[in-house]
Amino acid sequence: MALIVQKFGGTSVGSVERIRNVARRVAKWRAAGHSIVVVPSAMAGETNRLIALAREIQPQPDRRELDVVASTGEQVTIGLLSMALIELGLKARSYTGWQVKVQTDSAHAKARIVAIEHERLRHDLAEGYVAVVAGFQGIDTQGNITTLGRGGSDTSAVALAAALKADECQIYTDVDGVYTTDPRIVPQARRLKTVTFEEMLEMASLGSKVLQIRAVEFAGKYRVRLRVLSSLTDPMLPVAEEAEAGTLITFEDDPTMVMEKAVISGVAFNRDEAKITVHDVPDRPGVAYAILGPIAEANIDVDVIVQNVGHDGMTDLSFTVNRADCARAMKILKEQVQPHIKCREVSGDEKIAKLSLVGLGMRSHVGIASQMFRTLAEEGINIQMITTSEIKISVVIDEKYLELAVRVLHNAFELERE
Ligand code: ADP
Ligand code: ASP
Ligand code: MG
Repeated sequence: MALIVQKFGGTSVGSVERIRNVARRVAKWRAAGHSIVVVPSAMAGETNRLIALAREIQPQPDRRELDVVASTGEQVTIGLLSMALIELGLKARSYTGWQVKVQTDSAHAKARIVAIEHERLRHDLAEGYVAVVAGFQGIDTQGNITTLGRGGSDTSAVALAAALKADECQIYTDVDGVYTTDPRIVPQARRLKTVTFEEMLEMASLGSKVLQIRAVEFAGKYRVRLRVLSSLTDPMLPVAEEAEAGTLITFEDDPTMVMEKAVISGVAFNRDEAKITVHDVPDRPGVAYAILGPIAEANIDVDVIVQNVGHDGMTDLSFTVNRADCARAMKILKEQVQPHIKCREVSGDEKIAKLSLVGLGMRSHVGIASQMFRTLAEEGINIQMITTSEIKISVVIDEKYLELAVRVLHNAFELERE
């Protein structure tokens, strides 16, 4: 008998019928003798709807109150799913994040989980209950409701699995695993049977939204066995078959796993970034700090950074931030930084996208970058920024070429082939 945490995403609980199917699936795993904690997201589209409502009242919603509103979607699904389980004759109990409690820091809309009190869940599980815990939400030390950032139910599930020392965390979604790239963009994309944490971490941080990045970080840190699989298959699929389905995210040194030997595992992309350029900055020590220090102080994440070679004592510095933070970052630069460093101009470009190749095999293969650049050049796609690490190469390009670029790279590196 195993303890399994099963997370169901928005599409998977998107209608009453789908919630019933989730209940059937959970009941099947219970009948096979396993203890189950279920973590549902809000119904598809619901979190967007709630955030839009808040913005109608306040264009820049108060962060504390926005979390109060945004967290309600999950409260609905835990209740409905528990009812569906009870209807099937199971013992089930729902918990909001604060009932558990999922303790977080106070960074509204991107809170981090710091601890989980799990005694009550353990007690219920021992009594044979299915514990249905709301994803995406927690509570800070002052008792304020927090949310974990978009896609945060993945992190809730993995954190619960880590706290409860679960045997596996299963992420049920609307695709049957992790693919070489988003199958919505490249229909020929291929499902990976296994992927390492390192690669998954890069893919998630570079924009593959199939798993929230913090979920992957958590799973890697606490060695949670993590599987991505489909909730849209027949809910009565035999447990033995479902247990092997989808994509297992695992460790490079895991002896039981046969790693796929491809050099490149996937193409990730992100449309959520914006590029900011500070033009004609004096080329002297301390300038990067003068520009990026206030950005960091405002808790704005900076991603790709490029500083041009200086000319006539001047240089340009460009960097990317999350698109949602672009206006705030520009304001800080114009009001707090420009008067001091006396740069010529601060400009922003929201019509960019970042595209990345990810693969452990890059460590031992040369020529990947040049093949990537050649492929993009042949399509007339201009590269605005480049950044690399041991296992990834990212480029920033004009957003309008993104889908084309993903397709030609997927093809050039033959990712559709086994
Ligand atoms: P959920 O609501 O279940 O959390 P998400 O929409 O967050 O689902 O994540 C699943 C989606 O992630 C898929 O529908 C797919 O379009 C997208 N996706 C992006 N990159 C990948 C990838 N490499 N492999 C699989 N799915 C991906
Ligand atoms: N409902 C939240 C969102 O839409 C959390 C999640 O789905 O994981 O972002
Ligand atoms: Mg998700």
